[in-house]
Amino acid sequence: MEFDQAGANALMDITPRPELVFVRGHGSWLEDQSGKRYLDFLQGWAVNCLGHSPAPVVEALTRQASLLINPSPAFFNLPAMELAKRLTTASCFDRVFFANSGAEANEGAIKLARKWGQLKRNGAFKIITFDHSFHGRTLATMSASGKAGWDTLFAPQVGGFPKATLNDIDSVRTLIDDDTVAIMLEPVQGEGGVLPASKEFMHGLRQLTREHNLLLIVDEVQTGVGRTGQLFAYQHFGIEPDIMTLAKGIGGGVPLAALCAREEVSVFQHGDQGGTYNGNPLATAAGLAVFDTVNAPGFLDTVNERAQQLSEGLLALSDKWGMKGERGLGLLRALMLDRNDGAAIVEAARNRAPEGMLLNSPRPNLLRFMPALNVTADEIDTMLAWLDGIVSDVRK
Ligand SMILES: *Cc1c(COP(=O)(O)O)cnc(C)c1O
Repeated sequence: MEFDQAGANALMDITPRPELVFVRGHGSWLEDQSGKRYLDFLQGWAVNCLGHSPAPVVEALTRQASLLINPSPAFFNLPAMELAKRLTTASCFDRVFFANSGAEANEGAIKLARKWGQLKRNGAFKIITFDHSFHGRTLATMSASGKAGWDTLFAPQVGGFPKATLNDIDSVRTLIDDDTVAIMLEPVQGEGGVLPASKEFMHGLRQLTREHNLLLIVDEVQTGVGRTGQLFAYQHFGIEPDIMTLAKGIGGGVPLAALCAREEVSVFQHGDQGGTYNGNPLATAAGLAVFDTVNAPGFLDTVNERAQQLSEGLLALSDKWGMKGERGLGLLRALMLDRNDGAAIVEAARNRAPEGMLLNSPRPNLLRFMPALNVTADEIDTMLAWLDGIVSDVRK
């Protein structure tokens, strides 16, 4: 099949895309227009937590689409109410606001913290965030992010996001002043290269926020909904945050996000927060199907078994090729390369024949793995074997 160049040209050129058009997907496999198949360890950037077009999500969408798609957020609907109950029952939070993307949920978290600061903390508004963090692509969430170069891109930034260093509690403490209202972080920095916060650091943050009457906000857009082997990553650390955001996995590929907060912090007044699509029954029905699958007995045990297998396999590759080890939590893992050939490996994996493989290199010396949570043991073995061959080719 001819590549539709006119179609490609009609889209804004926001990223270098290969001349590939994907037409169908199932589980851990994607298929392009030419019929070539790809083993997918990207899954839409950790979005398709049950793989491509999983049956429970397809069924929920089909059923809900024929019943009711969007009555407007000014009215209650059943899937939104059900999913909010599931999330609050399974977590330390009491209230949920549904949104459509991670950035929008984080934007909501920032607004909620500032509102709380106005009501309870004399107008304190600063939110301490971290170098190399990623919170989204709206102006405020870009300003909250610690990505190099983002401070000047689209300047001026939204103010009030001083940056600390992950796992360095003193770097946080020195930034706290009377205007500080919250500390916000990813429990595992995803885009930053799969860097987990340490348990000690998380405990230090919870203690510091209690001492200074600050909110602790966890951005679990990438780590939430089973990705790290717990339903929510904060549960690994034995702390309870005040606010949590979810997106990516929560919709299993369908645009859905959530802002979760404790009762005392849920201070939005009528008119403060909204959005046309928030909590629409189509997306929340998909969210329910995902949640019930991930929360079913035994599901997370299997995630942890696969994570162990992936971790050991990556470590073996690292030893064989003289790389720098692997790290991560659950099925969010990274292989640290000993040189900057991440992009070359990603490209060679995609071009592999007859079947290709989709990998990600968020930094030149690092590969990131975020397979479907229901990836099979065979698929992990296949990925590891192919990766070994690809590294061998690239480094010949
Ligand atoms: C992907 C991501 C976001 C942004 O989510 P979008 O749905 O792309 O807006 C925010 N925070 C983290 C930690 C992410 O990984």
